[in-house]
Amino acid sequence: MLFAMQKLSEAQASEVRRIIQAGNLAGAIEIHRQLYPPMGKGHLRETDTSDLRECLTAPLPIFSFCSDGELLELRLRMATELIGGRFTLTPDVNFPWRHPMTPKATVHNFFASIASFRNVSAWRRNKNVLMARIQNSSCGPCSSCVEAAREYELADLPSIPIHSCENINTVGCRCVAIASKIHGVHP
Ligand SMILES: [Zn+2]
Repeated sequence: MLFAMQKLSEAQASEVRRIIQAGNLAGAIEIHRQLYPPMGKGHLRETDTSDLRECLTAPLPIFSFCSDGELLELRLRMATELIGGRFTLTPDVNFPWRHPMTPKATVHNFFASIASFRNVSAWRRNKNVLMARIQNSSCGPCSSCVEAAREYELADLPSIPIHSCENINTVGCRCVAIASKIHGVHP
């Protein structure tokens, strides 16, 4: 049987969201699996609880202009998207508050924050990466990001997006953190 990739209905999304809000991530994943049973390798990504826990708790300094409530809203939207097996919020999504970043940049920066936070956490936990480099986007990084683009000890690595990025009102920061010196590898 062929299943089209479908969106969660409004009611299903609210239910998943209510469960996530109550802190029951495993329950939310269970509901998702009932709605969309795994159909084989590569078709539907299994979402694990650590993905969600981290997206609900990762520090996000570039979003300091948001209140705690607004940031929670953003986190919940992202967790709901992850539960739905998707990794992008709709770029033109209407956020329920006014803020200086465009919706597209907000979404991009939010996901970039979480992805980078997860990578760096894993590097620290596994103690396999000694140094990391901030790398600018090839198209028009701001002067703060150009200044930040170098190699760091892992403990000193700035978080992504670069907090002082001057593109926050437009496209947002597009820098990435890459592992540059790996334990036991001598370039
Ligand atoms: Zn920048």
